[in-house]
Amino acid sequence: MSLEDELDRLCLACGLCCDGTIFAVAPLGPLELEPARSLKLPIVSDRAFKLPCPLQDGTRCTIHADPARPAICGAYQCKLRKQHAAEGGDIEERISIVTRTRVIAGRVRAKLPDAETSVIKRVDKLIQDGGLASLRGDPELALDVAELAVRLERDFGVVVEREGKG
Ligand code: SF4
Ligand code: SF4
Repeated sequence: MSLEDELDRLCLACGLCCDGTIFAVAPLGPLELEPARSLKLPIVSDRAFKLPCPLQDGTRCTIHADPARPAICGAYQCKLRKQHAAEGGDIEERISIVTRTRVIAGRVRAKLPDAETSVIKRVDKLIQDGGLASLRGDPELALDVAELAVRLERDFGVVVEREGKG
């Protein structure tokens, strides 16, 4: 399998930058507004569409090879993807990282619902506001929040201040 094929496999198994975990919106170029409307992407301003993306099916982008896919979708690369592109290595290990992170993100999303912000922003606010001690009544959530924050920063290079994909 070529490196490009491995990178495709990684992202198609992941989708954390599309499902509202890492970002709440994704930017569009000025010439991408009409194509984005045609794709029925939920445009929230002149220059962005809302995430989770409705064109994601499970972990997979349903328009992965479509030339009408917004440029940001092909341009964004998290730390994990960049690392694999630069260093190669065992793709199964990297896929196990995204699989574990997706499981935790799903549990946290279910317990901290908020359509307006990314999951990482919710986690960061929780940690900043009350600390994990505020979750004494739900130790599983406290562990998940802590692990998700570590994984997204360490493995995916997420900077919490950034709300928009790109
Ligand atoms: S978060 Fe990284 S590995 Fe996951 S889909 Fe986005 S670029 Fe690919
Ligand atoms: S179009 Fe595909 S790559 Fe872009 S945000 Fe939606 S699911 Fe992700």
